[in-house]
Amino acid sequence: MLKPRAKEIARERIDILVKSALKEKDEALAAQQARQAKKIAMRFRVRLPYEAQQLYCKKCKAFIVPGRSARVRVGRAKTRAVRITCLRCGHTYRKVLGRNKDL
Ligand SMILES: [Zn+2]
Repeated sequence: MLKPRAKEIARERIDILVKSALKEKDEALAAQQARQAKKIAMRFRVRLPYEAQQLYCKKCKAFIVPGRSARVRVGRAKTRAVRITCLRCGHTYRKVLGRNKDL
């Protein structure tokens, strides 16, 4: 049995890892930090924060940074969605903006 506190610590570590991966200029290092964050999430059975989920390609699971390893195109104003193209595998997926915060 995991103590509730362990999950809390796991979430904090994931948060730190994702943030530093985003800031990291070295792509290999960023990918490593991102993998680490995912590992922790799986080990402690916590969900990655919604923003962090968007940073992993749905297809090749690579860590993608908008504007660097992904191409982001803003769709029509009505849909409030952006299209994110993973530059590693070419997979495109949509990210809907302005949805409920509980996601
Ligand atoms: Zn991909």
